[in-house]
Amino acid sequence: MPDPVLDSALILPRSEHSISRANISKSALNVLYGLHKAGYEACLVGGGVRDLLLGVTPKDFDIATSASPDQVRATFRNCRLIGRRFRLAHVHYGPEIVEVATYRASHDKAEDEDDARLDGDRILRDNVYGTREEDVIRRDFTVNALYYRIEDFALIDHVGALEDIALRRLRTIGDPEARYREDPVRMLRAVRLAAKLDLSIELATEAPLFELGYLLETVPQSRLFDEAVKLLLSGHGVRSYELLLQYRLLDYLFPLEATQIDPERDRLIRAALANTDQRVATGLPVTPSFLLAVLLWDPLQEAVARQLVRGVSEHEAFFHAQEEVLRMQNDILAVPKRFTLPAAEIWSLQSRLVRRRQPERMLSHPRFRAAYDFLLLRAQGEPDLMPSLDFWTAHQSGATPSPVNEAETDADGSAPRRRRRRRGRRRGAPGATPPPTSVGP
Ligand code: ATP
Ligand code: MG
Repeated sequence: MPDPVLDSALILPRSEHSISRANISKSALNVLYGLHKAGYEACLVGGGVRDLLLGVTPKDFDIATSASPDQVRATFRNCRLIGRRFRLAHVHYGPEIVEVATYRASHDKAEDEDDARLDGDRILRDNVYGTREEDVIRRDFTVNALYYRIEDFALIDHVGALEDIALRRLRTIGDPEARYREDPVRMLRAVRLAAKLDLSIELATEAPLFELGYLLETVPQSRLFDEAVKLLLSGHGVRSYELLLQYRLLDYLFPLEATQIDPERDRLIRAALANTDQRVATGLPVTPSFLLAVLLWDPLQEAVARQLVRGVSEHEAFFHAQEEVLRMQNDILAVPKRFTLPAAEIWSLQSRLVRRRQPERMLSHPRFRAAYDFLLLRAQGEPDLMPSLDFWTAHQSGATPSPVNEAETDADGSAPRRRRRRRGRRRGAPGATPPPTSVGP
């Protein structure tokens, strides 16, 4: 493997780059200055520097320093140490948290075997402190490995990152396959960064993505869930979905047999993701529940059909199918109950919306709006649903707030659930067709 680090770092003085303190949060600057004053090297690094150079507003500012976590804690009163695998310092400024990581060496630099045990190719621990030169090569992509040093406002490039930024190109630091094997989540990060920043993935960095999806099976399910949320709910869901399909990675996140995705399923998923992206773009809240309901709708229908073949009632078939699909999903990545419960409600409300009974009760259901939005997306591909959709569109426009605490039994006997009714739930403006919301709770 060629040495990924340049022979000598490229150091751009303040006059030769565009990173300006005016675009860095006050809290991050405070931390940088505080560390520098205490005698340590402190740099802005990672997504913050990358996004500023690409003209995107950073989501957060990550800081790397020569100070150990204990030294960081001693420097700031408002600081807590977190994490077991990586010990990180969190410096709190009201609701804002600035994350500070000590420079770390990669595992093969460890003197003590125990400090960086490897499980096959995977890193279990890499809490070995090191220099900036060592810190740079454990980062995933070149564009994520630029350091903005506060003492002289210089931009430091050890890995040819500036060239990649100029070419809008995503490239791993070191051998791509080895880096994905060390941490398979980097494959999802590649997709997310390419989608979010409209970067092209360099050929050698891209090639293993087609082959190594199965490595995701070894990633803890909660970490996969976090990554899936970032991929699909950060405002670039459609593009991320396309890339996940292209690299055959979607199957490792959802029980979708993506190789056999049919056009209607594809249309539904894209429409939901496009709505979500639009909501994010306009600053509206989004939750995973609605997308989950959409993504698993087809597997649910297939499971219902399998149940019906066994000769059970429709109600029973739905109940078992729902359990089965959510179990399949949770075997792949762990979705917290607070998201699966609303998704299941959106499903069970579908047949009730199609039956068009008890409009007052339906309209006051806490999940009515999400279920309606889902019906709207389905109706765009299934004209048979249009009359039901029109019925609820009309009712929604003219409805008045409904009574609270009303007992209700399910006509379709769907899964038991708690009812929470809200007084005076807001409806769409009279006469208007409400836009889809993508919001679960
Ligand atoms: P964003 O914050 O916009 O989602 P980011 O690249 O800053 O993107 P973070 O999760 O905040 O993502 O990570 C900060 C930095 O830590 C990255 O830029 C990268 O240098 C490094 N990093 C994060 N995850 C990994 C990983 N799995 N392997 C190697 N380095 C990583
Ligand atoms: Mg970040």
